[in-house]
Amino acid sequence: MGLPLREELRGIEPYGAPQLDLPVQLNVNENPYAPSEAVVADVAQAVAEATRRLNRYPDREFVELRAGLAAYLGRDVGGGVAPEQVWAANGSNEVMLHLLQAFGGPGRTALSFAPTYSMYPEYARDTNTRWVVGHRAEDFAIDVDQARALIAQERPSVVLLPSPNNPTGTALPPEHVAALCAATAEAGGVLVVDEAYAEFRRAGTPSALEQLPDNPNLVVTRTMSKAFALAGARLGYLAASTEVCDALRVVRLPYHLSAVTQAVALAALRHTDELLGNVDTLRHERDRTVDWLREQGLTVADSDANFALFGTFADRRAIWDGLVARGVLIRETGPEGWLRVSIGTPDEMAAFRAALLEVLP
Ligand code: PMP
Repeated sequence: MGLPLREELRGIEPYGAPQLDLPVQLNVNENPYAPSEAVVADVAQAVAEATRRLNRYPDREFVELRAGLAAYLGRDVGGGVAPEQVWAANGSNEVMLHLLQAFGGPGRTALSFAPTYSMYPEYARDTNTRWVVGHRAEDFAIDVDQARALIAQERPSVVLLPSPNNPTGTALPPEHVAALCAATAEAGGVLVVDEAYAEFRRAGTPSALEQLPDNPNLVVTRTMSKAFALAGARLGYLAASTEVCDALRVVRLPYHLSAVTQAVALAALRHTDELLGNVDTLRHERDRTVDWLREQGLTVADSDANFALFGTFADRRAIWDGLVARGVLIRETGPEGWLRVSIGTPDEMAAFRAALLEVLP
């Protein structure tokens, strides 16, 4: 007997980058710097304490963690962020699924601009939300007039805009955030600025967090997976109006954030400065990588993130394969002909450069 699988899921492969065991891993925009022994010890102690109470369900409202995340985000916002304005879940992937569960759904539309993060259409599919995709300009920026027109025409209840964008690294200027937020409000929707890579942005690019006080329909999502070097812990979060957070409390599963996850995230927040200590090194290495790729005659998108999109290749698979054969794993993603490399340690980037020189046509 055939399974009663939803029609739209038939034949679909689960999303995910190939997990190959190669010495140089530059494919999923992780932070290459593992936590120090001091962080390991503090996290381990926090987990031990949480373990003593694992017979009980965790704090469903994760009050302490919300306060810790609000204090961290407050660094980027003049008036600060209140704990009630913060929401968290298992990775910003789950945060965004909650957003689509609350604000999408049958008869509603979610909209973004390609090339962009390939999970967005999946959140839409999984919540029965209609998916509409506009297009970015040749330099991967958003043409605000065209975007406004598309929003007015499609009237999405959710607009998803990563800044910096994945896979291109493109950040949104603040005036574009303001204009698109106004256009989305006009259409009755919420604008989600996905700032998974915000801490890597170049000097002079402000966070959309600054615009929260003026925009009740603005949602800014963040993650501890990238700059905080905590991808394995699965902790994503957002800041928005308390009304948005209260709506997400309705759709989340009870106790969705385990006591262990909460303990790990809180311990990590106590070491914020140390964990973020490698961000400047990574930004520097990113700029060096972009310059070097350009020196090789390649086209490289300007990047405010911890990766660079470069190309263009008649046969990008051949380049990717050639790097794999030399122990370097990057990502075959983005528009046809482009490849994306995450920024690793100086040694890893040297290995990437040496391998690429051997495989460039
Ligand atoms: N948003 C963007 C733009 C991303 O690139 C990623 C991860 N690759 C995420 C969100 C999700 O990250 P996480 O679930 O680890 O927070």
